[in-house]
Amino acid sequence: MLGRRIGLIGLILSVIVAAPHAGAGELTVSSAFDGGSAEVLEIDQTGRSIKIRPAGDPQFGWPCWWYFQVTGIQPGEEITVTVDASQMKQANGKKLSSNWALPEQAAYSVDQKHWLQTPVGVRSDGTCQWSVKVDANQAWFAWGPPFVPADAKKLVERLSREHSDVAAFELCKTRAGREVPALVVSHDESETDSRMVIWVQARQHAWESGGSWVGRGFIEWAVSDAPQAVELRKKADIYFVPIMDIDNVATGNGGKNQVPHDHNRDWSETPQWNSVKTAMRSLKAFDQQKRLVLFVDLHNPGSNSKRPFFYVTPPELATKKRKQLQDAFIAACRHEMKVPLELDQNTPSTGPKYDQRWKEISSNWVRSATRECVVGITLETCWNTKHSHPAGYMTVGRQLGLGIARYLKTDPRQLSE
Ligand SMILES: [Zn+2]
Repeated sequence: MLGRRIGLIGLILSVIVAAPHAGAGELTVSSAFDGGSAEVLEIDQTGRSIKIRPAGDPQFGWPCWWYFQVTGIQPGEEITVTVDASQMKQANGKKLSSNWALPEQAAYSVDQKHWLQTPVGVRSDGTCQWSVKVDANQAWFAWGPPFVPADAKKLVERLSREHSDVAAFELCKTRAGREVPALVVSHDESETDSRMVIWVQARQHAWESGGSWVGRGFIEWAVSDAPQAVELRKKADIYFVPIMDIDNVATGNGGKNQVPHDHNRDWSETPQWNSVKTAMRSLKAFDQQKRLVLFVDLHNPGSNSKRPFFYVTPPELATKKRKQLQDAFIAACRHEMKVPLELDQNTPSTGPKYDQRWKEISSNWVRSATRECVVGITLETCWNTKHSHPAGYMTVGRQLGLGIARYLKTDPRQLSE
């Protein structure tokens, strides 16, 4: 009797122990796809948990980006993901703060298309642990919602298919031979010589995936039937580059501070990167045609930022007219960027104290190399909030569009010269 009872208890216990992952497969992790980055440290098949560290090579920028696939999930079970960012190094060997790699809420998806946020993770000693109940047999986890070269290509091709005003084109090939997709929105061919030009680009820093989502929100609004967008298209051509540093996005590297310097420290007489070289040449030509009025560079900032903000012109490059126009542009954007992410009152600048190569930062190059009627500016959209998901980012992008339309109600070229 006793033996049978022990046997029964043992049977019950084994069922209880086995129940959390009864029927579950073996968890496997892969990062062998575009944008993937993960070094697997541990897979606990019993605890259903995975521990990785970001696998980017510091030579190719801050290794704070991570993105991987998990298979073998029993639909409905909870998976725990831990990212160890305690050992991150920069190319010069200096430590990189774990904050860059550890959002409060990571991104996850069960189809690699729709990206959700995990619940808030638990931080400890340079690591963070997020637990998610997954209703599928596979899932993808990432630092933020990924936006890879194929997404850029699909976006420009879809918009050019759906809108007669839109033409997709190849900005250039990268040093590694990859295509840099871009598009132009041009409504009226008869007046092309006098129309204003707006240039919006994202991802000079590869890991800052939110920039591409803000850009997507902007450009989808710009081609839409919204009355302000229709008005804007009547007077301005709009150039959009979803990803500038295609190579590092494709290989899952961070890009920021890569060797010898990153895309946003490359706007010099002798650019290293082809997308920068081509963008500079185009912007210079539009400026010489007296058409360029606005350049916006899209980024994600540090982990403590909780609102979008602009990096404005440093005093060294601020003429009275440039400053006036910049203030008018920011005021117009402030009018639009309110919910859910309100534009920050704080407007830092990128002068000599910010970086040794401050003059080679794209918006500073625009401020020094173009006519005074041009506003060149950097928009940093916070990535570490509960709104830092595709829909939230795209809302900021649409509001940027509304701000641009509001600002360009008056042609800034009339105000200069
Ligand atoms: Zn950046």
